Amino acid sequence: MIQKGFIVDLNKLFEQFESLFSRTVEGVSSAPGRVNLIGEFTDYNDGYVLPCALPFRTYVAYRKRSDNIIMAYSTNYPDECEAFELAPAISHGMSHWGNYVRAIAYVYKMAGYQLSGMDILISSNVPQGAGLSSSAALEVALGGALNQAFELDLTLEKIALLGQQAENYFLGCQCGIMDQLVSAKAIKNQALMIDCMSLAIEHFSVPEELALIVINSNFPRKLVESEYNQRRRDCMNAAAKMGVSTLRQASLNLLEESRALMTLNEYKRAHHVITENRRVLQAAKALQENNLQALSELMAESHISLRDNFEVTVAVTDGLVDICHSALGTACATRMTGGGFGGAVICICRHGDVPKIVEAVSSQYHQYFGLQETIYVVNAAGGLMTTLGTDRSALVSEEFL
Ligand code: ADP
Ligand code: MG
Repeated sequence: MIQKGFIVDLNKLFEQFESLFSRTVEGVSSAPGRVNLIGEFTDYNDGYVLPCALPFRTYVAYRKRSDNIIMAYSTNYPDECEAFELAPAISHGMSHWGNYVRAIAYVYKMAGYQLSGMDILISSNVPQGAGLSSSAALEVALGGALNQAFELDLTLEKIALLGQQAENYFLGCQCGIMDQLVSAKAIKNQALMIDCMSLAIEHFSVPEELALIVINSNFPRKLVESEYNQRRRDCMNAAAKMGVSTLRQASLNLLEESRALMTLNEYKRAHHVITENRRVLQAAKALQENNLQALSELMAESHISLRDNFEVTVAVTDGLVDICHSALGTACATRMTGGGFGGAVICICRHGDVPKIVEAVSSQYHQYFGLQETIYVVNAAGGLMTTLGTDRSALVSEEFL
């Protein structure tokens, strides 16, 4: 099923804010989800990644309060109110989504920023739990709102780092920096090659003739966080056994020399990360040269490495990749994207070939796997945007006009 993604109606959002809080909106912040073209599980190993932002965004409308209470609603979870006090130590609440708001307040307080209470209304069209980083979009949009409301003068990089800390220290997910950094700093029509050691970013235009197709498997993910965190521990252990501080410093030679010291899983995880870093550098070059065949080979290798060595793919994402390949061969570059265990597949092909992919997936995926996919054809979008008041033109990226 091909979908355009629904548009967040900002006028409706502002009306809803007024009816919930009996006050007008003071400012708005919005940040996108992302799709990672290549470089999976390399970010927390100080390696390279190549994501771009999606034209799906999370909006945060707010007004400061005169007390110390944060009161938040999300149109994605209607009728649920998340309210808590900005105490010195903010604790976890009962609501899953509400804990993302608490997490951001917690890390900003811990970092010493002066906050006061706020009324907040969140609304998003980023698909949730699909590996397209709705969580980072929310963290970065909330961070952008705090930055603007309390004149914190934070850089986009700092807003991203605080979002990552919210995941690591409050939400219990040991994710790297990729998702938050691309959500904060993305540029329209560009993929960002991020060096996760220095946080330096190099921009690579997505060639005009290439289409980005995101295929959500709609596979329900379970117990994912403990698996992520275990993968990260395996990577850290492998690096320690090779005598390097992160896998970025390791080579395949060093890995082979140290193999006897490692468990099989540590060896396989490290093998993925070391080879994936090389693939990201080659893929950025292939993108620059508009070399779809090279990109196709690199993304196919990446997927196989994620399947066999990092062990984060599932039958449905393997199946979607196979369906795309059997439709277009090396005229498409396809792999699972995001944290795995379900989620989405990215397929890059020429615009004229999009219908072949849509037709192949629509006719085979449900038949073989019993699930209904969602297909989005997207452009690389821009990152965090904030505005005081409700000026729509400062908030709506061109994709939505
Ligand atoms: P992903 O980041 O891949 O979408 P995660 O499991 O990391 O998946 O994050 C999804 C969670 O983030 C949701 O279950 C919800 O708790 C929170 N979240 C994301 N977007 C929103 C939103 N618009 N409103 C409220 N909570 C949200
Ligand atoms: Mg997430």
